[in-house]
Amino acid sequence: MKKPYVYITRNIPEEVIAPLKTLAEINVWEGGNKKVPADILKREAAKSIALFTTLDDNINKSLIENSPNLKVIANMAVGYDNIDVSAATKHGVFICNTPGILSDTTADLAFALLMSTARRIVEGNQFIKEGYWKDWGPLLMVGRDIHHKTLGIVGMGRIGEKVAKRAAGFDMQVLYHNRSRKEEVEETLNVTYCTFEELLEKSDFVVNLLPLTEETKNKFDSTAFSKMKNEAIFINVGRGLTVEEDDLLDALNKGEIAGAGLDVFRQEPISNQHPLINLDQVVAVPHIGSASIDTRYAMMRLAVQNIVNVLQGKYPEAYVNKDVTI
Ligand code: NAP
Repeated sequence: MKKPYVYITRNIPEEVIAPLKTLAEINVWEGGNKKVPADILKREAAKSIALFTTLDDNINKSLIENSPNLKVIANMAVGYDNIDVSAATKHGVFICNTPGILSDTTADLAFALLMSTARRIVEGNQFIKEGYWKDWGPLLMVGRDIHHKTLGIVGMGRIGEKVAKRAAGFDMQVLYHNRSRKEEVEETLNVTYCTFEELLEKSDFVVNLLPLTEETKNKFDSTAFSKMKNEAIFINVGRGLTVEEDDLLDALNKGEIAGAGLDVFRQEPISNQHPLINLDQVVAVPHIGSASIDTRYAMMRLAVQNIVNVLQGKYPEAYVNKDVTI
């Protein structure tokens, strides 16, 4: 009998794909880290029972409608804003993600960005490498304290809780904002719920961990930045489109806020010519929140396992559209 066809949109290690080998005919995109062109993805999806995708693969309604055999899309990310979930649900396609296993690693990165922005680590590194370190002075490369300051977490979910845990080690006061209060978390992690506006006004560091939805799109705009303290540092590890980057640039240029640590951008990859990237008070990294070797392997393995489960007639380990049934 002909094996079902599975398409994998990134060149992932053979050992990770192994559990799929006996169950399916597998085709792996050969372009390495280059994104699969939309026409190839659509053509491959049309033949597939399962797709292994990453966060920059655009899985839109037309691709889903054009793929009659599709049963599962295993996105190697916790976010799934690259996928039209309602179209997938309508067509009975499981949308899988990789929640939880990347939370600690992503929280580490959020904290690394926070620390490097506050303590000017990247600037200091460049300062030495470019030969500017000639003298020492009391105010040379002074930054901002982290310990005992107030941290505001917008989007206090799995990753937010891990960030709050790290903040406790720095004796920080932690505020958070979600649509719903988490009283149990308030007690165990000693965090305080507040409105979005209150959080912006009171925090020395604002960490954005919002998923991208219609509601969160452009949430951080000029109004939001104008409410923040002039000494505050903004960290974005959520999604780029939740931030109006022009407004962020303005706020930094006008001194409305002091700095930004950015892992995600409206357009990825962001150009090195973008004015945000060229500000000294901005530390930018290329969407590497979950990029530790252990976590990336765990994410790839979970994505593959989600496909294996569906091919074996079982529910995936992690999926977001609970209305879909086997
Ligand atoms: P999660 O557990 O679902 O947490 C998201 C939190 O955001 C929830 O607590 C939710 O609480 C809150 N939220 C959602 N919509 C909101 C709104 N309109 N206003 C206020 N709060 C809202 O997700 P997670 O695992 O922590 O991941 C969070 C996001 O981080 C992902 O969706 C992804 O976009 C991003 N991420 C980025 C990287 C990276 O590499 N940079 C890595 C992993 C994840 P309520 O439902 O109560 O509002």
